[in-house]
Amino acid sequence: MITRMSTLFLRTLREDPADAEVPSHKLLVRAGYVRRIAPGIYSWLPLGLRVLRKIEEIVREEMNAIGAQEIHFPALLPKEPYDATNRWTEYGPNLFRLKDRKGGDYLLGPTHEELFALTVKGEYSSYKDYPVMLYQIQTKYRDEERPRAGILRGREFVMKDSYSFDLDDEGLAASYQLHRDAYIRIFDRVGLRYVIVAATSGAMGGSASEEFLAESETGEDTFVRSTESGFAANVEAVVTPAPPAEPIEGKAAAEVHHTPNTPTIETLVDFLNANTDRKFTAADTLKNVLVKTRQPGSPDWELLAVGLPGDREVDMKRLEASLEPAEVALLEEADFAANPFLVKGYIGPKALQDNGVRYLVDPRVVSGTAWVTGADKGDHHVVDLLCGRDFTPDGTIEAAEVREGDPSPDGRGTLVAARGIEIGHIFQLGRKYADAFSLDALGQDGKPKRITMGSYGVGVSRLVAAIAEQSHDEVGLVWPREVAPADVHVVIAGKDESIRERGEAIAAELDAAGVQVVLDDRTVSPGVKFADSELIGVPTVLVVGKGLTRGVVEVRDRRSGDRAEVEADNAVQHLI
Ligand code: ATP
Ligand code: MG
Ligand code: MG
Ligand code: MG
Repeated sequence: MITRMSTLFLRTLREDPADAEVPSHKLLVRAGYVRRIAPGIYSWLPLGLRVLRKIEEIVREEMNAIGAQEIHFPALLPKEPYDATNRWTEYGPNLFRLKDRKGGDYLLGPTHEELFALTVKGEYSSYKDYPVMLYQIQTKYRDEERPRAGILRGREFVMKDSYSFDLDDEGLAASYQLHRDAYIRIFDRVGLRYVIVAATSGAMGGSASEEFLAESETGEDTFVRSTESGFAANVEAVVTPAPPAEPIEGKAAAEVHHTPNTPTIETLVDFLNANTDRKFTAADTLKNVLVKTRQPGSPDWELLAVGLPGDREVDMKRLEASLEPAEVALLEEADFAANPFLVKGYIGPKALQDNGVRYLVDPRVVSGTAWVTGADKGDHHVVDLLCGRDFTPDGTIEAAEVREGDPSPDGRGTLVAARGIEIGHIFQLGRKYADAFSLDALGQDGKPKRITMGSYGVGVSRLVAAIAEQSHDEVGLVWPREVAPADVHVVIAGKDESIRERGEAIAAELDAAGVQVVLDDRTVSPGVKFADSELIGVPTVLVVGKGLTRGVVEVRDRRSGDRAEVEADNAVQHLI
């Protein structure tokens, strides 16, 4: 169907909206794609909705192509599942919480791991059912502290979220890779320039989490990349060399000791659950640094579980405040029966990996102090691990500490910094949610097997703004063809009936040939029509005007500005 400007529900604006700072926000409002309802809450007008739907469709195609199946959850959700994972509380002020008429607690879903895990648990029971990947394209709610830049950071926004369910780590790695590849295809198709960056230090098993960042000056994320290697990371995840540690006098390098009763993840979790108010699951330990400290001179040990990386800032402070005057427990002094979680040393990947032991915690806590961790190999623990001697530490550092010109952590090239907009995030979750809901499959051996999950998000509505951010000029939007609200914008530039008739005829022919057409059939001046066509940003503009007396029309390329006359008789052929 031809979209007629004479009836299209559209009023373009000549002035930038007062609250808009970034180009995409200004232009999407001026071109009548979106309208503000409240901070971070926008409505989609016809042209905007078309772009959004096209992006959704690309995402859908690529998700279907990897075998993910689309389902759809409500946005209005009961509290209980989020209580089970502690996220009702942990999510903090970002969660929209509400009550129903009976006083029951509800929330507007910010992300749906709980519901997907519960749903799979409800339907599947045997190892034969797995693996499975499910997704939805759905409205999410987050009460963002700083809603920003129109739809770029909304409080209501559209996300594609998918979740993979696998029987083992290899399966999870494969599902993750499928998503990674699908995301590359999606972001290529929508015409973005983007980078894939490590979102964590990578210490938890290589690619546990990666972000897709659309390169943009106006982005809120800062990433660094190497001038020579493929290394790229969000600065939050950057590996920075710590000063070399002094070897301990008379001691050898770190060792993994076999010690009966050394804690495993399970014993750590049991201990925590018995001794603290919080409820932990085995997967939690991947996110939590478990430390035991005591103040000098005090006989009392204090147990701290420090959440990482989600609430890193707060807990780092807490950790430092607590540890500075404190002394970290020494393994040798520890009574394992009474203190089943004590291991001396800095948490470091290499010595652990060399010994076939996975560390339990995120090792990015850096300050030169010894932290405490366990090992996931039964009856093993690590002793005398020294930062700088036994491993290259993965340091959590502030953005300000990353400087251009720093050496790349992989030793190849130097770092350059740039900014980006997070458009996608893929994450190997592991068993946190499966543990919370006891999501098991009955294995071939008749024993229950805990499922391992991945979660993967694309900011669908944010993509509209991210594309606009990368693709515009001073007069308007410039849509990549795959997501443009139409293929050709036909401008009838002249009052003569012959011009109008010819414009109508060409538009009808294009439409019949499957080309999406916007036809400017209004009775306004050509100048107004050209300005609107530039603002709206359809990739090709076809001007039907005075040239008709010479039998030609003009084809304008919105991006390059190139203009070419073509014979009116060949115009349709030229454009399809
Ligand atoms: P951000 O760092 O920008 O706050 P996030 O890391 O909190 O994003 P995720 O939980 O990883 O977001 O959600 C998956 C995707 O959803 C993000 O990669 C992003 O593209 C999109 N997204 C997240 N928050 C918003 C928002 N407030 N408005 C629009 N899109 C969003
Ligand atoms: Mg966020
Ligand atoms: Mg983020
Ligand atoms: Mg994210």
